Parts: sequence; C-alpha cells; structure tokens
Amino acid sequence: MQWPLWRGQLLDLFGCTLSGLYVTPPVENFVDLRSDTVTQPSAAMRHAMAVADVGDDRYGEDPSVNRLEEAAAELTGKAAAAYLPTGRLCNQIAMHLLTRPGHLVVCEESAHVGGIEAATAAALPRIAFRRVKADRGLMSGSQVAMALEPDPYDVEVVDLVTVENTHQLGGGSVLPRPELTAIAKVCFEHRVRLYLDGARIFNACVATGAAVAEYAAQVDALMFCLSKGLGAPVGSLLVGGEDLIAEARRLKVIFGAGWRQAGIMAAAGSIALTEGPKRLHEDHIHARRLAEGIAEFLPDAVDPATVQTNIVFADVSNTGHDAQLWQCELMANGLLVTRVRGRVRMLTHADVGSREIDAALSAWRQVAAELAPIRRF
Ligand SMILES: *Cc1c(COP(=O)(O)O)cnc(C)c1O
Repeated sequence: MQWPLWRGQLLDLFGCTLSGLYVTPPVENFVDLRSDTVTQPSAAMRHAMAVADVGDDRYGEDPSVNRLEEAAAELTGKAAAAYLPTGRLCNQIAMHLLTRPGHLVVCEESAHVGGIEAATAAALPRIAFRRVKADRGLMSGSQVAMALEPDPYDVEVVDLVTVENTHQLGGGSVLPRPELTAIAKVCFEHRVRLYLDGARIFNACVATGAAVAEYAAQVDALMFCLSKGLGAPVGSLLVGGEDLIAEARRLKVIFGAGWRQAGIMAAAGSIALTEGPKRLHEDHIHARRLAEGIAEFLPDAVDPATVQTNIVFADVSNTGHDAQLWQCELMANGLLVTRVRGRVRMLTHADVGSREIDAALSAWRQVAAELAPIRRF
C-alpha cells in the first residue's frame, strides 16, 4: 500500500490519532507494547481492591496505604516511604526537598528528570540541569566527578546528582552496582546528595541479581513505580529518611495530591510489590526474543545484545522510512508502539506473553516485506 492513501485509510479504519502515543479505543485488538504502564490489574489485585480497608490518607489513616508504605520502606531498607500518584511527582518532590531554586541537578543527558520532566522541574522545584552525555544513559563515577568540579566563577551550585536505573532512553540499560558505589563516593566527597530515579529498579535487580536494598543503600532517596512492570494500576513510592518523607507528605498535600481513600489502589499496589518482581524475568526474556526476531530481518535496527531488561528500541532510519511510517504500518498490522527521538520503542509487560511476541514479530515481518521494495530505490 502506498503511504498517503494508506494513512487516510488507517484513520478511517481505526479512527486513530497519529500523535505518537495515543490511539482511540478499542485497543483490545492490538498487541500493546507502547509502555509497561498499560497493564490491566490481575484478578488478585481486583479482589484486594474490592475488600481493601480504607481510611482518609490525608490524615494518615488509610491502613492499606500505611501497610504499603511500611512494606516499601522495609524492602528498600530505608526509614520511610510515601505513596504518591505518579513517579514524576516522587521525583519532583524529592528534587524540591533536596535542592534550592536556581541551583543545579546533575543528570544524564537523556534522563527522565531532565527531559520529559524538565517543564515540571521549572514549575515546581525551579532548578536547572547539568546534563552529562553517557553511553546508553549510564554515567560513570568519573563523569559525575567532572560534573561536580566547582564553578571557577563561583556562581553555579550543584545540589543533587540523580541517576536513572534502569535507564529508559538508554534502552532499559542497567547501572551496575559498583558504578553506583563509585558515583555515591564522588557525591559524598563533594557533599552533594544522590537520588535514584528507580522507576524500573526492580527490572535492574532482576537483571543483576542485586536486592533493591543494595541499590537503595547507596542513595539518599529513591523512587520506584508500582504502575510499570510490577503491574499495579496506579502509584509510585518515594523512599528515604524519616525527615525527608515527613516533608514529602507535606508537599504531597501542597502540590494537590492529598488523596483520600487511596487504600483502594494501595491494596493492588501491595500485591504488585510482592508478586510483581517475581515475573519480571519473563518480560526480559520476551524483550530479548522480540529484539532477536526483529534483528533477523533488520539487523541494523536492533542489537539484541544491548537488550538487558524489558525495553527494545528499533532504529529504523536505515530502512529509508521514518519511525512514524513504521509506527503507522505496525499499527495497521495490529501492533502498538511508541516513537521516541526518531526510534521505535517497545516495552514488554505482564499482559504480553509469547503469543503476543509472535504477533508482534509477524507485524514487523509484514511491514518489512511491504516496505522492502521501496527501500531498494
Ligand atoms: C515512567 C518514568 C517516570 C515517571 O513515572 P510516572 O508515574 O509516569 O509519572 C520517571 N522516571 C522514569 C525513568 C520513568 O520511566
């Protein structure tokens, strides 16, 4: 099919928008690899939600929220945790508490905090970023040391270093624990605090075999999402010291997230926290198989050896067609993906089994076959 005609057909057929991320329902008929946030709650989660003990979390009286926060603190070996609606709010509250306005946060060049969240960081903590470019998003101790060298003009001040593990735009890459130790040492020497954006820290733990507490021990505070690979419908946890979390609870209300009987969701979150990590290795196997399958007919697009966790990026620029066309063609073949910085992004998750991977690969094969004749010119 030729592109202009085809795009019109697609809009007619599915009524979909091509903004990149969103499609108009029904999405049930698609294999959905746009994100690991798209999962449906498990039957156990739905049951737990139905029978959850609840109270007003604004007054600290929701037993299901309190249980979840205690479990998160215990699992990470930190003093306390705050259950918040999004990972972004965890990051922003942490940065608000660990920096002063107009000061700098060191992060990797494509980090979530300094990229997707940059506008929020301007609106809430009002900080600026010093971005360090690193291979696959993984900064080394020496790179951080360089970023922390004092400003010779004595104007710029770095208050905080953030690391992202796994690194989303790095392709779900895993920061090895010794490297985090090196970064923590540099931060300590410079009297700068260290924060971990661990949206997918459990994926990193599965890949390395480390316990989440081992990563947490290296940082002042961290965040992780229940709503991603762990499979909960809503929520993230900010974890740290007693004083920091007490302040975070205050900001939670100030920033408008003082939700009430949130135990309905926390009950599902507790199941995600205990059961979720047990099955993440399956997502990693599926991601690897997806990457290997695509590499069979598009060897330039994917290097399966770099797929460590549940994220696969395909660089389709050598096919002669841009990522948007690939995205649309894949959608027409029943596969939903996202486009990030000109690449096609796919994430495996709890609702993706080997059947879905087969279907995804056949969509890729179909589109590759359709586009191949054009590619030769
Ligand atoms: C998803 C994500 C976040 C933010 O989580 P939300 O719950 O979507 O706000 C932060 N950091 C990273 C690395 C993420 O992937």
